[in-house]
Amino acid sequence: MALSLSAQTLLLHLSIQLAVMIVGVMGSNAMPMVMNGQREFDYFALALQWPGTFCRRTRHCCSSNACCRGLNAPTEFTIHGLWPDYNDGTWPACCTRSNFDEKEISTLLDGLEKYWPSLSCGSSSNCHGGKGSFWAHEWEKHGTCSFPVIRDEYSYFLTVLNVYFKYNVTQVLNEAGYLPSNTEKYPLGGIVSAIENAFHATPLLVCSKGSVQELHLCFYKDFKPRDCAVGSGIHNDMISSKSSCPPYVSLPTYVSRGLDSAETTLSWMPDDEVL
Ligand code: AMP
Repeated sequence: MALSLSAQTLLLHLSIQLAVMIVGVMGSNAMPMVMNGQREFDYFALALQWPGTFCRRTRHCCSSNACCRGLNAPTEFTIHGLWPDYNDGTWPACCTRSNFDEKEISTLLDGLEKYWPSLSCGSSSNCHGGKGSFWAHEWEKHGTCSFPVIRDEYSYFLTVLNVYFKYNVTQVLNEAGYLPSNTEKYPLGGIVSAIENAFHATPLLVCSKGSVQELHLCFYKDFKPRDCAVGSGIHNDMISSKSSCPPYVSLPTYVSRGLDSAETTLSWMPDDEVL
């Protein structure tokens, strides 16, 4: 039976609407939407921090700030986080409502205190309007988006420690002659080449006032090294003049300026950090 023109138009309209709804559910690039409507990430960035640079912003001390550990303050790259990123330079965030629970990582705490310490007295914002520890921030904002490669909080922290130990950036730079110094400046290209020679992938560096503040290593989902895409992996709060590294950079040692001796009396003080 032939359909009238208006019935045909109605059918066409309905099928277009259905197609739009399907694309809406699948995502514009036909990737299934996962995790709070955000699509699955493309690669991982392991963000490392240079404490000698980061700790220069310390003004007051508290027990949770590793910059305040005096002679035991970290002298190697420490972990900032493992970030699932997209190739286009953006990234998913806060993908599930899996709240951080320190009890789940109790067996990892010694390693985390040493290699993934907070370098600040301030608390970090979490995904749902509250405040928490640096670890809670990293798990809730980034870790929850590493599904399906990493499926829970314990696996996230364990995986990050394992990758950090396997790709020892501090050791590679030391062996190439790039040692912490408050007087030397090193060619940025030399630092990048040392990492490329060791891991066969190009890292991304972030500087603050001519000093290396962060170094990012990037990985495919199977944790084989890959280049960090240009312009990616730099989070919004780093996109500013301080993110660009000059041709010669420093890897400063942190001088605590006696803050550690004041720690016991100042431990109640709020953070007052400036870059
Ligand atoms: P992210 O969202 O992962 O880029 O983390 C950025 C937030 O974590 C900012 O609030 C930073 O000030 C804070 N942050 C970065 N590194 C550290 C650190 N080592 N200890 C404590 N807070 C940090």
